[in-house]
Amino acid sequence: MPDNTMPADLTALTLEQLVQLIEYHNRRYWELGEPEISDIDYDRLLRRLAELAPQHPLVVQVHAPTVSGTGKVRHTAPMLSLDKAYSLDEVMEWAEKYIRSDREMFRIQPKYDGISANFAAGILATRGDGVEGENISDKLPLIELETVGYRGPVNRNVRGEIIIRDDVFRDKYVHIAKKDGKPYKNPRNAVAGIMGLKEIDELRYQIEHYHAWLTLVDYDMISYEVPYGEIRERWQGIVETIEKLPYPMDGIVVKLADQAYGLSLGYTAHHPRNQIAFKFTNIRKTSRLLQVDWSFGKNCLTPVAMIEPVDIGGITIRHASLHNLQNIIDKDIHIGDIIEVERAGDVIPYIVKAEPEDPEKRGSSPIITHCPCCESLLVQDGPELCCKNTDCFETRVQRLTAAVRNIGIERLGEPNIRRMMQTIGVKTLKDIFNLKATDILQLDGFKEKSASNLLKEIKAASQVNDFQLIAALNIQGIGPNIARQILSEYTIQELRGKTVEELSNLYGIGPERAKALVQELQSQGDFIDEMLNCVTLSQTKGAVTEKRPAICFTGKMPEKRGYYEELARRHGYEPADSVTSGLALLIAADLAENSSKLAKARKENIKIMALEEWLSSLNDKPSVSAPDNDLFASAQEKSKPGKETGNEFGMDQGSFDF
Ligand SMILES: [Zn+2]
Repeated sequence: MPDNTMPADLTALTLEQLVQLIEYHNRRYWELGEPEISDIDYDRLLRRLAELAPQHPLVVQVHAPTVSGTGKVRHTAPMLSLDKAYSLDEVMEWAEKYIRSDREMFRIQPKYDGISANFAAGILATRGDGVEGENISDKLPLIELETVGYRGPVNRNVRGEIIIRDDVFRDKYVHIAKKDGKPYKNPRNAVAGIMGLKEIDELRYQIEHYHAWLTLVDYDMISYEVPYGEIRERWQGIVETIEKLPYPMDGIVVKLADQAYGLSLGYTAHHPRNQIAFKFTNIRKTSRLLQVDWSFGKNCLTPVAMIEPVDIGGITIRHASLHNLQNIIDKDIHIGDIIEVERAGDVIPYIVKAEPEDPEKRGSSPIITHCPCCESLLVQDGPELCCKNTDCFETRVQRLTAAVRNIGIERLGEPNIRRMMQTIGVKTLKDIFNLKATDILQLDGFKEKSASNLLKEIKAASQVNDFQLIAALNIQGIGPNIARQILSEYTIQELRGKTVEELSNLYGIGPERAKALVQELQSQGDFIDEMLNCVTLSQTKGAVTEKRPAICFTGKMPEKRGYYEELARRHGYEPADSVTSGLALLIAADLAENSSKLAKARKENIKIMALEEWLSSLNDKPSVSAPDNDLFASAQEKSKPGKETGNEFGMDQGSFDF
């Protein structure tokens, strides 16, 4: 097992170790929904990576929440993430760079913690990946607008954040259940889950019945205007007032009040210069550990702490994450201990430390020795506690659920899989692919229509790209992108015969990932065989990819080259470094300039366009400008799981003053 602990000194890490660590935490967050580190630590990792390799894909990509929408909406200007500050000094340092006098006005606003969205011309769109957002107008019936002096249906153009008010969540969401019948964990989780739904009819009925609308909160609804010279003195008071507001927030946005001036400052590669996000530091509270429940996962048992209810950041916390067995051992956690619970943003609260109330009378250990399902002796595997009995019913349910989720059959959640295994003899993925309508109709809750919808989805899932299959193995550090890269070299069958050495030599793989891949190809061999047995696979290797027109840039441009290249990619071009006869388009910062690229393009009769002209040609297409921020948004292509996990990085509220 690679070491995934967070080192105090990040400079001691090699680039490869750093990348591996970030990918590990991405996976904890994105695929498992079980983050292990705070977002401050996560930011530290990313900042360090940006120092070492500013162009690394992990630096320029960031996750955005997956939203089920009805089409893409292109933003007129790219939406970037905000630069972050963790102390007032850092805020002041930033402000100092841009003030023209002590009287320069700043606007201080809450940094809402939901999904940023823009409503214009009747269309509601998310930030999406920063360049293109998702049209989520179909969710409008679930959302009300809150702006100065108004709370009601969304009826005017606005930029804001889709959230669920803390009071609404606390009072109403006890009635609103997820597809699997369980309640949402927190407002952020609920927003992410709801915005990811494909069908909202049933939920719409519940939300209207209980008056449990989501809120699109106007970014400018709450705003304090403060001159530079008074920020220090008024800071504490404003922060305290903002913290008490009934909205999920993870910080404060500070921006230049003079919009025209602010915009004139432009952007760095990642951030607009005119604003900064001050992140709330993590909040810790003391409580007591009442009990530990072990819940089943795909491979192992996960400990969940039941604690004496404690209010953290306006939310009553009753459960906290204990991560895994090793964590309980390392922190020497016992039932009845006085514990410190930390909540950072809407990351699942976790226990930071535990101490006996009375050292003489230590409570019992929460560690169990036998499987609660099959009573087999449990085994420690790395940091985890696992049931190794292949016939263990719960483990089988979890494995099949994970497999079904990995191949993207969304309608089929754990409760139904469990019922199928119990009542109609489903055992394997293959059995799922062989289901008939008559089988499904035997299950409670299914009618003709829902059964036929499920069958359609199962059928659609039977067409799989080979890289999706490898990504579905959930191997640390091997998501769909890396998998695609590997599979452009080897087919799955070829891959299964490769050694760690051979795979390490592939670009960007390295020995750690190669080792994990070889191990998992072996240990999940049955799953792979089963998949190959029941799906139609599209092979990446040798597949003819559609040729995109090549585009090249020349001259000094306002933004870094990488920015324009990314923009070009998103508009269907393939950026090239040099002018060759195959080039479709050369973009020049200055047409009058005498660069060799320009000269060559003229000689080769290649189409040349001025940067501004090209940018406005992109903008001519129908588009909506939405307030989104994380440039880091293109997100590793997420395979389909995890629609209901909120995410820490894609939801930042950001720069809206375009
Ligand atoms: Zn078991």
